[in-house]
Formats: sequence, C-alpha cells, structure tokens
Amino acid sequence: MDEAVVATDVAKRYGDTVALDGVDLTVAEGEVFGLIGPNGAGKTTLIRALTGTTPVDGEIRVFGSGPTTVDADRIGLLPQSFSPPARLTARELVDYYGGLYDSARETDAVLADVGLAETADSWYETLSGGQQRRVCVATALVNDPDLLFLDEPTTGIDPVGRRALWELLESLADGGTTVVLTSHSMAEVQRLSDRVGLLQDGQLVAVGTPTDLIADHGGRSRLVIGTAASESAVDPLREAGFAATAAADEVVVDGVSPVEIGEAVSALAAADIGYDSLTWTEPSLEDVYLQLTGERFEGVSTPGATALTEGASEEADEGAVAGGDR
Ligand code: ADP
Repeated sequence: MDEAVVATDVAKRYGDTVALDGVDLTVAEGEVFGLIGPNGAGKTTLIRALTGTTPVDGEIRVFGSGPTTVDADRIGLLPQSFSPPARLTARELVDYYGGLYDSARETDAVLADVGLAETADSWYETLSGGQQRRVCVATALVNDPDLLFLDEPTTGIDPVGRRALWELLESLADGGTTVVLTSHSMAEVQRLSDRVGLLQDGQLVAVGTPTDLIADHGGRSRLVIGTAASESAVDPLREAGFAATAAADEVVVDGVSPVEIGEAVSALAAADIGYDSLTWTEPSLEDVYLQLTGERFEGVSTPGATALTEGASEEADEGAVAGGDR
C-alpha cells in the first residue's frame, strides 16, 4: 500500500516549549489514523505540521510532496478553531470554499452529507454549535479530498449528529479517503481508527490498532461485584481461582472472561454471600490512555462497562432522584 503521509523526526518548539519532539509517523493511503493524547501533547501542532500551516524541523512528505506544495485539491483540513463569516448561509459558505478548488463537489450534495440540507439557507450565526461544526466539516469535504485532516471534528455536536458524522467518515474511508483525526472522544477514535497514535509531551509513545493497543496496554477485563460483604466475599472467590480484591462495598475481580462470570456468581452463592450489582468491564482505549499517560482521560468516555444486574441500577437511579428531591 502506498503512503499518504510520511513524517520523519518532526520537531517544533515555541520558545522554551517543546511541542513536537522527534515524531516519526507513516499513514498509509486509505487508512484512518487517530491521534490521542493529553491537552498540550502536540496533537494540533502535528496536524498543523502535516498540513504545512506551521513550519517544523524534520521531513514531511504528503503524497510524496512537501506539505505546502502538495496539490491542494487532494487535501481537506478542518482546523480545531475555525470561524467562518457569521452572516453567510451554510450554502454560501460551502459554495465559497468550493470556489477555491479547481473542481468541487455539488454544494447541495455536500450539505446533505453532513445533514444540513434543511438548514442550507440559514446564516451561520443562527445555527446551533453542532450545526456550525457540521458546516465547517462540509467546507473540508467540498473538494472531495483524498486525504482529510480533522482536528476534533465532532466537538459541540450532539450524540445523534456525531453518529451521523461517524457514518459519513466511515463511508469516506470505505471509499478510500485517508483520514487523520484528533478527537476529544475515545469512543470516536476507537470506532473510526484503523490505527491510533498516542502523543505525550510531543512524542508518539505508542502506535497501533485499537485492538493491539488494548491487548498490550489496556489490562484485563474485570468484574466488579457491589456487595456490603466485600471482605467476606474475597476468600470464596480466591478459593475458586479468581483474583479478587476487596474495596469499600465492592469486590474487584481481575481477568474475568464473560464465560467465567457464572462461576464467580456460583462461588458467592455457595458461600451464601449476597450482592447488589455485577458490572463487567472490558478494557478500552481509555485504559490504554490511563496506563501510558498516568492520567485519567477527561474527554468523552467510551462506554466499556456492562451492568449485569438491571434491578440494582434502577434502584440506584431511584435513590438518586429521591435524594435530589429532599
Ligand atoms: P494539543 O493539541 O495536544 O492540545 P498543541 O499542539 O496545541 O497540543 O500544543 C502543544 C504545546 O505547544 C503546548 O504546550 C502548547 O501550549 C504549545 N503551543 C501550541 N501552539 C502554540 C503557539 N502558537 N505559541 C506558543 N505555544 C504554543
């Protein structure tokens, strides 16, 4: 497979601040590459470097050319902050950006793709934050790029709009478009990316498929048993071969596969120990992030936990409502 992007030893300083520190990165044609990392890790600077909007040390090739000399018709860029003129309509804005390219897609088709067919004639400033972001995405798609850079594409977009945009990006990827994206949403990166790179302090500290990264750095799946008898539950679980540890009102059992859940429940039943909830959690990219950065991810979480006891969670919800009314 040919390479869309090859970055070698890319470095960038702002005064004393090291934004990028020797980044080597290759993105294959047709690949979706997700960049994650804490705030200030260098994600935006790397996108800017790859799109030629900030000069850097090192070498960058995009479709074999320099980032400022590559054919602009082949590249789409959605910067993190992008404020188009407020008193132009969505249609006028997409028309305008389309006019900058030798050949552009039909404006109406692009607006339909991002779910704005109904609001095409509204001024940008009257649209919701999510609709505005979708107009910005449309301006990045108007030239039907071969390589699309998206810096936090779904920020401010509601969950339904976000899913629609994911489907759009998946169909573009299926059609062969190469995508490099950053995101505040782990679910987004995990779902869309063929490979993920974790940037930390300007260095790419891990690169791999989500599955490989989770296998290497995500830890094991676990079962959390909510029980007031957590101390007494540990021994029977250990005797049954489980790695159980007690915490306040819960027991955490590491390395439980779905088929072993029943065995853990039987061990508790045999010891006559009751429980309020069972939650099974698969490791996700968020665990990779925690493991490698030492920080909990503060963006939009990946729902990785499966509650196995519905009654218990309903009771908990009711309790919360009652508490709030008091
Ligand atoms: P991220 O996108 O991962 O949050 P950035 O690429 O925005 O990270 O920033 C990387 C580092 O470079 C941060 O320490 C940031 O403060 C610094 N930085 C980014 N842009 C500038 C700039 N224009 N001037 C000075 N420092 C900057």
